[in-house]
Amino acid sequence: MIVEIRGKEDKMELERLFDKWCKKLRLTPQWDVKLELVQDPKWKKTGDFKIDPTDRKAILMLNVANPKQENMEEVIVHELMHIKMYPLDQVCESLIVNNFEEGTNGYNFAYQQFFENLEVTVEELTKCFLLEFGENRSLSYGRCAKGKSFNELYDGLKSIG
Ligand SMILES: [Zn+2]
Repeated sequence: MIVEIRGKEDKMELERLFDKWCKKLRLTPQWDVKLELVQDPKWKKTGDFKIDPTDRKAILMLNVANPKQENMEEVIVHELMHIKMYPLDQVCESLIVNNFEEGTNGYNFAYQQFFENLEVTVEELTKCFLLEFGENRSLSYGRCAKGKSFNELYDGLKSIG
């Protein structure tokens, strides 16, 4: 069953979970992280983030119009984990960009491996933290059912930054 986020109470609940996890993952006070609830029903993702690593500012965007995951706490932890891992993420990406020519097999292979392994790692860490500290410990299977393609992952990361 997909959650419906309608009322003000639900939104306050998301804010509360967001604050809890920013502290739990020790993102604040080093980072300024803001929660943005996306009302656009055409937005395809359930969660995403924008980041300014120089300023250490980030915005976590959550789809409240039609989320595809059942457990919004899990989505919050997943996206915050991406912010936590962002410095490493950037090192890997610049390593690829600076060592492979765009469009070559090597470049495509390196990018695909990087994105897939980044998602797997973020998801593994999310599970560990959620099962240890989560209020809703049931894992969403929405993402598995869809199975992200390489292009989706690639587009997802290209829009960051
Ligand atoms: Zn992710």
